[in-house]
Amino acid sequence: MNAPLQAQLPDANGYFGKYGGQLVPPHLKKAMDDIARAYAEIRERKDFQDKLAGLLQDYVGRPSPIFYARRLSKQLGGAQIHLKREDLNHTGAHKINHCLGEVLLAKFMGKTKVIAETGAGQHGVALATACALMGIPCEIHMGQVDIEKEHPNVTKMRILGCTVVPVTRGAATLKEAVDSAFEEYLKDPEHFFYAIGSVVGPHPFPMVVRDFQAVVGREARQQFQDKHGKLPDYVAACVGGGSNAIGLFTAFLNDALVRLVGVEPAGEGVDKAGRHAATLTKGKPGQIHGMETYVLANAAGEPDAVHSIASGLDYPGIGPEHSYLKDIGRVEYVTADDQECLDAFMRLSRIEGIIPALESAHAVAWAMRTAPTLRADQNILINLSGRGDKDADYVAKNLGLD
Ligand SMILES: *Cc1c(COP(=O)(O)O)cnc(C)c1O
Repeated sequence: MNAPLQAQLPDANGYFGKYGGQLVPPHLKKAMDDIARAYAEIRERKDFQDKLAGLLQDYVGRPSPIFYARRLSKQLGGAQIHLKREDLNHTGAHKINHCLGEVLLAKFMGKTKVIAETGAGQHGVALATACALMGIPCEIHMGQVDIEKEHPNVTKMRILGCTVVPVTRGAATLKEAVDSAFEEYLKDPEHFFYAIGSVVGPHPFPMVVRDFQAVVGREARQQFQDKHGKLPDYVAACVGGGSNAIGLFTAFLNDALVRLVGVEPAGEGVDKAGRHAATLTKGKPGQIHGMETYVLANAAGEPDAVHSIASGLDYPGIGPEHSYLKDIGRVEYVTADDQECLDAFMRLSRIEGIIPALESAHAVAWAMRTAPTLRADQNILINLSGRGDKDADYVAKNLGLD
């Protein structure tokens, strides 16, 4: 198998094999093409790359370290586990990496407002942060149900100067927030910028967000090589839309001996339709949000209900590059369920003093399950995509620690 270089995909039409593309109405196609053209221009410009690199260093705090989880590894008794600490970034997760890039792009294009939806509020806070830093108005649409559930994030967005638009229609959660944000964007796509929160949506977003997240893998590969004189045997990350995973994987795609593993949320079990979000494990190729990709759909072909204890993984689609990497067999996609995730959350907290995001705990759960099956001279590198402060109250309640 010959995995293509990052630079070679997607093709000019935004396809990774048969996945991706730009399935949008004609007037939006022009807006997407404008973004693709502007991005192609700035990615080659030294002033843009220098500005982004400077912010990643001095504002985000990059490079994030790799921490060797010695006590966890010893207790599990198998392979050694290493954590890429994206949880140490400013705002507490990997999302700030692509939000800074997207807002810089919006500024370069002379846009007057950045719009997005948010579910749990993580993308909203990271985007509001980047917009505050760059001085551009930010408008985040959020379901009323989520607003009540995730109040600290709503407060943060407002403190950061962002307009939070409550969405009360239908179930008043993420799907309705997407519809509402998109309607606002359609009012003036020439002057507004829709900042997508993962490697999903129509071309060029899966490529743009991947490129901005690729810093994670570039750093990690070099750091690991410098410290150990070799590459890890396994590289793993949780997969929602897939941005933290593709950010880590991209640097290793051509290292044929490095096994790449994406961990999807099995929720209450992959055989309970509507109670998991394991898109590549249980879904089929289809269309969602302007792209061809694997989708969890019901009999009528509409996106299915999804569930995960980690709201950031709760998505019935997946980035098209992951669909491609699954089909060519370069990445293996597995699952971890809610209970395994809670166990991993507590175990990492108590044995290493690191409280992971529930999303990231899926990757930790996979490592905990896998390490004992491997040899002590083998290494697992996982992406700790975010910190668990946001989840602490929920977990405490769930486990009766309150
Ligand atoms: C949003 C989020 C995710 C899921 O998004 P991806 O695009 O799949 O990376 C994972 N971890 C954390 C901490 C998040 O906030």
